[in-house]
Order: sequence, then structure tokens, then C-alpha cells
Amino acid sequence: MGGVILPGNTIGIFGGGQLGRMIAIAAKRMGYRVVVLDPTPDCPAGQVADDEITAPYTDVAAARDLARRCAVVTAEFENVPAETLEAIEPMVPVRPSSRVLRIAQNRIAEKTFLAEHGFPVPNFRPVRSHEELLRAISEIGCPAVLKTATGGYDGKGQVRIEHPDEAERAWERLGKVDCVLEEFVLLEREVSVIVARNLRGEEVVYPVAENTHANHILDTSVMPARIPPELARRAQELARAIAEALGVVGLLCVEMFVAQDSRLLVNELAPRPHNSGHQTFDAAVTSQFEQLVRAICNLPLGSTELYRPAAIANLLGDLWEGGEPNWAKALELPEVKLHLYGKAEPRPGRKMGHLTATAETPDEALQKVLEARRRLKEQA
Ligand code: ADP
Repeated sequence: MGGVILPGNTIGIFGGGQLGRMIAIAAKRMGYRVVVLDPTPDCPAGQVADDEITAPYTDVAAARDLARRCAVVTAEFENVPAETLEAIEPMVPVRPSSRVLRIAQNRIAEKTFLAEHGFPVPNFRPVRSHEELLRAISEIGCPAVLKTATGGYDGKGQVRIEHPDEAERAWERLGKVDCVLEEFVLLEREVSVIVARNLRGEEVVYPVAENTHANHILDTSVMPARIPPELARRAQELARAIAEALGVVGLLCVEMFVAQDSRLLVNELAPRPHNSGHQTFDAAVTSQFEQLVRAICNLPLGSTELYRPAAIANLLGDLWEGGEPNWAKALELPEVKLHLYGKAEPRPGRKMGHLTATAETPDEALQKVLEARRRLKEQA
């Protein structure tokens, strides 16, 4: 097997948040060394890694330092400047590549890529000028959502438009930056599928996850999704076909809408581990984090089978409002697992950790994880 990066080598990670941390945990378990580059010292991934480089993502000299020390480099989030990655690509394999990240970090590029390849997306139009805004609103109609092309996450950088008259003000609110206008889809539910692909083009697909959001932030995710098998197969096949069309080496999470009119539409691509795949850490034969390590090191991919259905519930900083959450009370439920990311400051809306529960059925797993999270608020 040519081109395999064996344990003992060093993996570099751009981004030291919880995703980087869980990649590092998986990599360390397999005997790799890990160096993280992040702007903040003692970041969640830095606490686990062998070493951390503290520098902004625009610091090409720091990125070259990372590249010199690593056999392969990956990114825990898609907004690492593509220029930084391009600068090191001649020095070290970057997986997924800067080309993939460039597409995923711009909604215009992403939706255009998907539409041009015949993948189903909500109706959309690019908005880069006043003329395009007027044309978009007349062609898409209302209700619609205006989203910034870059930099948006957890619902930041998007405005709902109920009436064409509001379009101008909405665009002003977003700073008149490049945007996409898309139809507002009546959602039956939201699902996501994670695909792993290695350099040899071998692919594996995880079971479909079913996601709920609160204030645009992922709140719970259940795996496998409670949807008909035929729809699950379609979602998995769609995700696999997109990963192949993109030529991803690593992971690709495809976020999808199941519309009330039963269309299956792609919302967003994330070429990295995804919050809706955290179930796999405790419940799958191979976690999404280990799978990423295998994919970028060109090792054979592992089974994506679940030992049991599983659900996660995110823990945001808001939970700390009344003091330290009651961890012991939640962990009295023996099938509940606690994951905390090592973040010092529990700010509202900040992802501090998650709980996972496994059970006989997805419904029971969800009920159990919600019960565990409720217990966190009980007096000690
Ligand atoms: P972000 O990148 O900020 O997470 P998304 O585009 O994924 O933004 O949107 C966040 C959430 O907003 C989605 O998960 C969905 O619940 C809702 N949403 C986004 N776009 C639409 C749409 N076109 N129609 C209906 N709901 C939408």
C-alpha cells in the first residue's frame, strides 16, 4: 500500500477547538503524534496534542512551521484561509485540499458546485450587487433567506425575508457583502450524513443522523435517523456522490433538509468532523475522528456500524448560569457519557461539551440523553 502514513508520524491540525481535540484523542490512541495550530494558547485540542503553535490562521510562516513538523495536515473547520493552505501544499499533503475548503467556505461557490453537478439544493441566486438582489427576490419570491456567502455559522449572517420590500434592509443589515438568497423551505426534518474517503478513493458512509436546532445551534442529534429506509438510502447515496464529485480525502458531512413536500435538499457541506457525528465516538465501531485519521493517512477505512442507536445533546455555556452543572446526577444513568472540551469560560451559546446516550432504539436514546441533560440542572 503506497503512500500510507503510519502511526508514529505527526498529524497537524488547523484549529484547536473540540473537533480538533477529538481528532487528537483518536490520533493519539492510534500512536500518532499531533501538533495543533490555533490562535489561542491552551486551546481544547492543544491540551491533548503533543504540541501547539499559537498563531493566527493568516500567519503563513507559522503554517510552514506546522508543515515542516508534520507528515499530513488537516483542518477542523472549513474557514482556515485557503491561501494559508495553498502556501503549504507544496510542502506537505493537506487533506482535505485547499480546493475543497475553498468551495465549502463560500456559499455561492458551494451551491453553484452542487447545482452544476445536478445535486438537489434549495432554489437560490447569488447576490453580489443591487441588481442581483432585485432579480433574486423577484425570481425566488418570499419567504426567503438571505445568507452571507462567507463567515456565517450557527445561523449568524442570515436574515429571513417575508416581503420583497424587506430585501434591501436585510442586505444592508448583512453589510452589503456577497450573499445568496434562497427559498425558505418548509422543513419536515433536518438530517446529515458523514462520508469518509481515503486517497485510494475507498469510501464508507455513516448512518443518517437526525438533527434538531435551538437558536440555529445544533441541540440534539440522533443516529440512526427515524426516517424510512428508502429515504435513508437516498440521503447516504447523495452524500457519497457529493464526496466523490468533490474528490474529498478525509471526511465530508452533508447537511440536508427533508422538505414537507418530501424533497431531499442539500443545505451545507462541511469537509471535516461534524457535531452530528459525535454519537460515533461512543456508539460506532469506528468514530468519525478515527475515520478521519485513517482517511488522511491512507489507511483502510473502518466499519461505520453502530453498536447501538445513540443520541447526543449539546451542552452550551448557558448551562453554567446557576453554577457548575450536576455531572454526577446525569452520570447516574449508566448509559450516558460525558464529553467536556476543556474550555475555561462558559459563555452563553458556546459549545462546552455534549452528552451521549445509547439505547435499544433511537427514541429511547434521545429520551435518555435529554433526561441526563435535565439532571444537570438539579441541585447537588
Ligand atoms: P449556518 O451555516 O449558520 O449553520 P445554515 O445555512 O446551516 O447556517 O442554517 C442554519 C439553520 O437555519 C438550518 O439548520 C435550518 O434550520 C435553518 N435554515 C437555513 N436555511 C434555510 C432555508 N432555506 N429554509 C428553511 N430553513 C433554513
